[in-house]
Amino acid sequence: MQFSKLSTLYGRLEATASGNELRQILADFFKETYQKNPEELSILTQLSLGKISPDYISAVLGVAEKLVLKAIAKASGRSVKEITKHMHHLGDAGLVAELVLKQKAFTLVPTGDLTTDELYQTLHKIKDIEGSGSQDIKEKILISIFQKTTGQDSKYLARIILGNMRLGVADMTVLDALSICFTGDKSNKPRLERAYNVCPDIAKIAKQLADKGIEHIDEIPVKVGRPIRVMLAQRVASLSNMSEKIKSNLFQVEAKYDGERVQVHKERDGTITLYSRRMENITDQLPDLVEYLKKEIHVMAVEYILEGEIMALSEDAKIHQSFQTLMQRKRKTEIEKYIKKVPVALYVFDLLYLNGESMMNKPLIERGESIDKILYKKNRIRRIELIQTESVDEVQSFFEKMLKDGNEGVIVKSTADDSHYKAGARDWNWIKWKKDYMQNLVDSFDLVVIGAFYGKGKRTGAYGSLLCATYNHKTDTFESVSKLGTGLTDKTLEELPFILREHKVVKKPARVIINKEMTPDVWFEPFLVVEVIAAEISQGKMHCAARTPGSDRGLALRFPRFIQIRADKGPEDATSSEELLSLYEGI
Ligand code: ATP
Repeated sequence: MQFSKLSTLYGRLEATASGNELRQILADFFKETYQKNPEELSILTQLSLGKISPDYISAVLGVAEKLVLKAIAKASGRSVKEITKHMHHLGDAGLVAELVLKQKAFTLVPTGDLTTDELYQTLHKIKDIEGSGSQDIKEKILISIFQKTTGQDSKYLARIILGNMRLGVADMTVLDALSICFTGDKSNKPRLERAYNVCPDIAKIAKQLADKGIEHIDEIPVKVGRPIRVMLAQRVASLSNMSEKIKSNLFQVEAKYDGERVQVHKERDGTITLYSRRMENITDQLPDLVEYLKKEIHVMAVEYILEGEIMALSEDAKIHQSFQTLMQRKRKTEIEKYIKKVPVALYVFDLLYLNGESMMNKPLIERGESIDKILYKKNRIRRIELIQTESVDEVQSFFEKMLKDGNEGVIVKSTADDSHYKAGARDWNWIKWKKDYMQNLVDSFDLVVIGAFYGKGKRTGAYGSLLCATYNHKTDTFESVSKLGTGLTDKTLEELPFILREHKVVKKPARVIINKEMTPDVWFEPFLVVEVIAAEISQGKMHCAARTPGSDRGLALRFPRFIQIRADKGPEDATSSEELLSLYEGI
């Protein structure tokens, strides 16, 4: 396919203000592609997101804005000085490329002959170039592809390279569109999502649909090395509610440590990859943990996927340290120094795959028995502390012991026959119970920042408050739920414009739902997640969370207070409107 065709799609996606239209435009594009050339669908589905790889493969091209501007200058026959001037004025390398590569007269070779396949292959090539002289090679390649584009195509090419497409499309939107394309409407999205939970690679999902059809979508197998979307815990208003929700008589109550969740993949060739809760590859940050895994997991486990919580330890490796201490290990430099300064241990709580067999559909106790078989030395790779009991009183005492030991609380898990590992689901087979809930204080929520209001008085010149949303999983929309001003420290207020700069958009993103009276001064594409506490959920006309069709009343969080930025969560991992509704209804 000619790249100009894909760039027309980008243009249409960027222009629409409606989520439904966004899905329909994508579905039509997929249908046409599939009918003309089914082989192309997979790559084009990936490219429709403006990305060349799924998120878990960090496809950083290693190309800075400066290099892109230099390549645009050379491709258009203009001076770097002139291009820099345009950049100051327009503030977006894409707009600069569109401006100067508009007229064919400025380009040195015939334009408009870039194909999507060539684009895809070339960008993958750029990603893999390393070592001395790599910048020069990258520059040459960039010049050659810019020379093959004009106008709008150049704009989107620059944005893809720099990773700032801001189309308002995410994997969930593409799943909706694939469902419409292959089955006529969105009703098969949950089925596609179940496949995606095990294989979070949109191109693979599209390929399976194109090659085998929807009937075979559940057959995409677990693959060691490819992350699985994590299973999440529900929350309840009181411990007694927990026993109503969990189906088994016997509970497995596990410690809930406040560390970082990790999914460990060991392949047959010995490669170990560590993925964060957001499925980012964090292996390079934790080479010591990789070594412990090699030494302390039995050799009979030739390939496995397990999950656990990484905890920071004191320098003598005995006492648990805080989450903040562990965060010092999130670094790209001085890794060796910090291995000594902040040692870590892994507390394993689940096993998803072992030696060629998926464990996800086995009951919890069976998965636990397999964990015990493969944990070998238990020095730095340890089983999470747990008890099994039928008594809610014992759950309560274990919980109290956990708090005394400085932990966050417990996760109570079902041991019923169907206590499977449900990838990507927030499931009633796991219920979290934390200190904050028990003390009946306030609840915490992870909200997506969708806009900002300029400050007044002391906050003049900065953002005074943020417009925040919950994620409605069913409709794939971000619904405004709260205006957040309290708790933002001077430091955060100073940082926010920088963090959000790249995500500013000129109009309401298509998947965002607000009440007009809440229109912010600045819009952001859903990206940043913030943790807030709030004392009350109310229903009214100002906000839109969990609003039923036809009603003008949505849920709102009242008296919210900013706690922290949650860089470990993506916008679709935020508190869902469904969760908020069940808390409001006191379930
Ligand atoms: P969530 O992960 O549920 O969206 P969150 O990241 O804000 O929410 P919490 O709500 O505090 O975290 O609790 C869930 C997290 O607890 C898990 O993602 C995991 O990192 C951690 N955890 C600690 N111990 C366990 C355990 N034994 N079983 C499952 N998860 C555990």
